[in-house]
Amino acid sequence: VAAKPDCVFCKIVQGEIPSHRVFENDAVLAFMDIGPLAEGHLLVIPKAHYQTIDQMSAEHAAELGRVLPQLTGVVQQVSGATGCNLLQNNGVVAGQAVLHVHFHIIPRAAQDGLGYRWHPKSYPDGRAAELATLMSTALGRSA
Ligand SMILES: [Zn+2]
Repeated sequence: VAAKPDCVFCKIVQGEIPSHRVFENDAVLAFMDIGPLAEGHLLVIPKAHYQTIDQMSAEHAAELGRVLPQLTGVVQQVSGATGCNLLQNNGVVAGQAVLHVHFHIIPRAAQDGLGYRWHPKSYPDGRAAELATLMSTALGRSA
């Protein structure tokens, strides 16, 4: 997947825009978010340009997932946080601001004022089963 010329994160991968790099290998780069929600806020990206996670190859997604446990542990260790939110905004409607897949690792502390709206709804009768069938069928398998 070729770098996208106007993509800020591709430019960071290529070193055209400076960043504070924390980790990198052939497939993945982790660097400090320049607008941190908390000290230690890390971004983890595939080096290949993908706009959203559903476009990623399984191999590149696996490479990214492989490093998340250790990076999360290091963020917590260094920031002193006892928990983190791992957040991936997928698509503009979901709040994605840079259109290159990225996972946020955001250190959390009690009373830190962060948080999010979480207002669970409920399904009408049969709808959850219907959606589950539609999704498993789309995946080409039966649950
Ligand atoms: Zn990019």
